[in-house]
Amino acid sequence: MSRLTFEHNYQVICEVDINQFHSTIERRRESQKSYAEGLAADIRRHCEGFTDIRIEAELCEVCQYCDATWTELDRGYNGGCCDEDQKSAPVCQERERE
Ligand SMILES: [Zn+2]
Repeated sequence: MSRLTFEHNYQVICEVDINQFHSTIERRRESQKSYAEGLAADIRRHCEGFTDIRIEAELCEVCQYCDATWTELDRGYNGGCCDEDQKSAPVCQERERE
C-alpha cells in the first residue's frame, strides 16, 4: 500500500446565530458581521497556534422587500413573492394575466 490518506488543515468554524441580536433583518445582518469581527479579535488576543484567522461569509440572495429567497434568474423580479416585487413583473407577464 503506497497511498496514505489523512486529515489535515483543521479549521475551527464558528457559525454566528443571526437571530440573537436585533429584530429587524438589516440590523441582524449588521450585528452578525460585527459579532464575527469581535470574535475574531478575541481569538487573536487570547489564542495561539494558528497562522491566519479570517471571516468568510456565504452570499445569499433575497427579495429586498420581503426577504424571501430569490428563486428567479431575472435580477429584478422574483416571480411575485410580494406586492412590491409584483410591481416589477415584466410587462409581457402582466398582459398574460389580463
Ligand atoms: Zn418579495
